[in-house]
Amino acid sequence: MNDLTLEAAGMQDEVYDLLVVGAGPTGLACAIEAQKAGFRAIVVDKGCLCNSLFHYPAQMTFFTTPELLEIGGIPFPSPNPKPTRAEALQYYRLVAVHYRLDVRQYHRVERVTGSDGAFTVHTEDRFGRRGVLKAHKLAVATGYYDLPNYLGIPGEKLSKVHHYYNDPHPYFEMDVVVIGGKNSAAIAALELWRSGARVTLVYRGPEIPPHVKYWIKPDIENRIKNGEIKAYFRSNVVEVAPDAVTVETPQGRLTLKNDFVFAMTGYHPDFNFLERLGLRFEGEDRLPVCDAETLESNVPGIYLAGVIVAGARTNDIFIENGRFHGLQIAKALASK
Ligand code: NAP
Repeated sequence: MNDLTLEAAGMQDEVYDLLVVGAGPTGLACAIEAQKAGFRAIVVDKGCLCNSLFHYPAQMTFFTTPELLEIGGIPFPSPNPKPTRAEALQYYRLVAVHYRLDVRQYHRVERVTGSDGAFTVHTEDRFGRRGVLKAHKLAVATGYYDLPNYLGIPGEKLSKVHHYYNDPHPYFEMDVVVIGGKNSAAIAALELWRSGARVTLVYRGPEIPPHVKYWIKPDIENRIKNGEIKAYFRSNVVEVAPDAVTVETPQGRLTLKNDFVFAMTGYHPDFNFLERLGLRFEGEDRLPVCDAETLESNVPGIYLAGVIVAGARTNDIFIENGRFHGLQIAKALASK
């Protein structure tokens, strides 16, 4: 619907108590807690429900137990101590149905006008059609998985360079470089190697870091020790070409035959979007200005939830703790 059809349908007059941007577990929890407190909530996402989880590696299992992923007090039954991506997606779909959440999927929030008590959220759908939604308050739970940490090296834009790893099959008997040394890089390197890719790990650090999960670290270290996965530490990929990569190592520059590159170099929140909302970030860690108790940002009426509360420190907040932000926000709304 464009603005005119919305107007004709009388939908522009509908005013929600809370509009949540981002339909991940944290955003869903915000809407659920607001509904439980008697508010009318809507969730808007540019992708599908739990879009980031959907784009995680196909065979991914969580690092955590099912109960720590629960939202809205709905049990997450899983036969696995560490639930799978597919189980989590099914669980969050069921929760959305259970709470009859109003989730507007595939609607990108372009900009927000108005102010506390009277926000207008301008959206665009997949076909470029514009719409507006009105809300008294906003909660922003946009996560951090949208924007990879680019390396800024020549050749990074080649189609063979990926910043998201999904499935190992297409890389069977291919020469693959994995960049990075933490969990995502180690998992990708191991899965690719187990599926018949020839894997080289290039990591700027001196060794696999101590915080890599205790069941992944020995696995990757042993593959490296056995020469099954080749690794260059204290090294950086400095250029990618169609058939090769150039790696700067302590021993000098090397050129390696290469078919695909997975740069598992982490992700960051969309600070441009957040700043367009008027949100302020401070210091090297780009911590948002935000009340620790209510999670209200420097913009009155705009609340923050999930990993963006930690700014650039994206390894501080996970579903396990971000899922409680909805409760804090609902309490703050109820107290006003
Ligand atoms: P990450 O922890 O941010 O690690 C990024 C890696 O890329 C680090 O090794 C970093 O090096 C390296 N790096 C970053 N910028 C670089 C640059 N410009 N040049 C070269 N190397 C660069 O990202 P992640 O492994 O994707 O993990 C993100 C979060 O997701 C973590 O909390 C992780 O535990 C979680 N995770 C969960 C699962 C799961 O639940 N199954 C799976 C994977 C990851 P340094 O080490 O030197 O900083």
